[in-house]
Amino acid sequence: MEKKPILEVTKLEVVYQSAIVAVQGVSLSVPENSIIALLGVNGAGKSTTLRAISGFLGIDDAEVTDGTIEFEGEILNNKKPHVISRKGVALVPEREKIFVTLTVRENLAACLSTQKGGGKTNLNLDMVHEFFPVLHERRNQVAGYLSGGERQMLALSMALLCAPKLLMVDELSLGLAPIVVEHLMERLLTLNKETGLAILVVEQNAAAALSIAEFGYIMENGHVVFSGTSDKLLNHEDVKEFYLGLSEKGVKSYRDVKQYRRTRRWWG
Ligand code: ATP
Repeated sequence: MEKKPILEVTKLEVVYQSAIVAVQGVSLSVPENSIIALLGVNGAGKSTTLRAISGFLGIDDAEVTDGTIEFEGEILNNKKPHVISRKGVALVPEREKIFVTLTVRENLAACLSTQKGGGKTNLNLDMVHEFFPVLHERRNQVAGYLSGGERQMLALSMALLCAPKLLMVDELSLGLAPIVVEHLMERLLTLNKETGLAILVVEQNAAAALSIAEFGYIMENGHVVFSGTSDKLLNHEDVKEFYLGLSEKGVKSYRDVKQYRRTRRWWG
């Protein structure tokens, strides 16, 4: 039986400062209990899409100007972040995700007292420590001194303490060693398998995201330009060459191919 969508984004348009169209006509779907990847290079519009879903556009004087964001059948367009969070949508943003001057324990405590999103992943502190033992070891350390990977674990734990039904994670892999990225992806997969939590991972690291996602969307210049199952994306010649850095022609990375590929369109 086909899974029901928990999140359905249809023809979304987002405009910054009434002038810059950052997202145009984007449609994507996150079925319940699924991990979905949203991929693309810098400036493609991935973070803007996540900010629109979680209600954080106002900070940057941006707004949803067209399309719909539907979560569990309810339209969320331009609602406030705290309202969206209570409905069960949690975002781990790319930046400013933890309180750097507070200890690990204080960061987690701040989230224990917040409103809950009604999801099944209603973890308590013991469960967080079991899931990420290093956070227990570092509980009295100031969060600003954590390593990059430990910061991500703390940010994920803070989001999970809000009991989300949908977890959205922006660039978890940024600046981390491959082995740390692998560990974090494994933790997301375990969460999804054990609790049924729906997860939307936004990544430039397509290989990492597709290793756990069942379906992926590729964004470019504010549009979704390609989508398919992870197997389809991992085996698609252009995706391999442009986003995975693998090619039979010997092209090794996005940097190598961008000069001649940048203007190419998937539907070309
Ligand atoms: P990255 O991986 O670098 O974060 P992204 O795919 O998440 O890239 P966005 O950050 O969503 O892309 O940016 C999409 C477009 O919106 C870009 O052209 C960017 O310059 C523009 N943009 C983002 N934030 C703002 C802002 N606060 N004001 C104006 N334009 C913005």
